Amino acid sequence: MSQDTSLPPLLPGSTLGVLGGGQLGRMFVHQAQAMGYFTAVLDADPTSPAGLVSHHHIQTDYEDPQGLAELARLADAVTTEFENVPAAALAALAAQRPVSPAAGAVSVAQDRAREKAHFVACGVPCAPYAVIETSEQLATVSSDLLPGILKTARMGYDGKGQVRVKTAAELAAAWDAVGQVPCVLEKMLPLQLECSVLVARGADGAMVHLPVQRNLHRDGILAVTEVYEGNLPLALSAQAVAAAKSVAQGLQYIGVLCVEFFVLQNGSLVVNEIAPRPHNSGHYSQNACDVSQFELQVRTMARLPLTQPHQHSPAVMLNLLGDLWFAQGDAEQTPPWAAVLALPGAHLHLYGKREAKRGRKMGHLNITAATPEAARATALKAAALLGIAPF
Ligand code: ATP
Ligand code: MG
Repeated sequence: MSQDTSLPPLLPGSTLGVLGGGQLGRMFVHQAQAMGYFTAVLDADPTSPAGLVSHHHIQTDYEDPQGLAELARLADAVTTEFENVPAAALAALAAQRPVSPAAGAVSVAQDRAREKAHFVACGVPCAPYAVIETSEQLATVSSDLLPGILKTARMGYDGKGQVRVKTAAELAAAWDAVGQVPCVLEKMLPLQLECSVLVARGADGAMVHLPVQRNLHRDGILAVTEVYEGNLPLALSAQAVAAAKSVAQGLQYIGVLCVEFFVLQNGSLVVNEIAPRPHNSGHYSQNACDVSQFELQVRTMARLPLTQPHQHSPAVMLNLLGDLWFAQGDAEQTPPWAAVLALPGAHLHLYGKREAKRGRKMGHLNITAATPEAARATALKAAALLGIAPF
């Protein structure tokens, strides 16, 4: 069903459906339930984080026609928590129920080549790049793009599907190593820092945003997000918000969209990529803002009004990766939750995953405080207790 702006809002008591049962789906389900909605999750894994807490859990693949039909029967509207959900599944659901974001927007986010073409079309600068789909394209790549990062066009996340290359020979070897699938080669840029913005756009075109997040990645995975006044120069934040809104507007996007940016050493802003859903870097909003990214997701899909979120507390978010569950020598351990929760302003979020693995996102810790200095000081204490390197 195309999004009809004349449709009435879906009020509490309705059922909201989500494709994907990961942690983002779980936090969406928690928020929807807090607001009085029923929820339906489609995910084949019987122990998926969102499936475990939802009123309904349909345990089929994303492309199973019966599973999709059941989701359409149960849910009054459908969203996604996972950008690699097949666009065809969203399109099939959209024939019966309002789906946000739409399959077209999700399919742009699924493909780095299309994503970059969209940035160019919106006039938002991105890293210089070339699409590599054939041996001819590989042979004619400009040496200006080296050193660079070869990224598979589809299915990458947390730095997976990426190879750093310095020479044409390394590039050719890397393309072989990823199986000669369609890729983009991006020029390696001198980064000063990374930041991201979450925007929400309603079916009526209204847009709001969360404050700009400053992000620290380690080994290609988000490690720390800091959000408070002074985390970034004001002019840069304003530029990032404006760029994120034009990217959303250009897609006629409905829902919550995360736009990730690089700030280069010369201070200029370059867009990296988009995620068509709430994002790890927006988790601080659960405890630091009057409206969280998950409430924005509920509101956009239920066609409820969007009010501009207000951040009431400076915040630092620490990602809790599975590594914290292993002591030296790989002995299993339980992180020191009681000591962490003795810190004022510490808010623990765990995703209910049965098994910890290194690099696996198990939860996050939001730290709020009255001042940025206090939030950072408490976050550093929590990091020390948990065995997370200081930042
Ligand atoms: P995720 O989906 O978890 O955000 P991803 O696998 O999609 O990650 P990217 O965001 O493309 O990967 O890259 C991961 C990290 O690698 C970036 O956050 C940045 O630190 C670094 N990186 C990526 N591209 C470049 C580039 N062109 N120049 C310099 N550093 C880069
Ligand atoms: Mg990224």
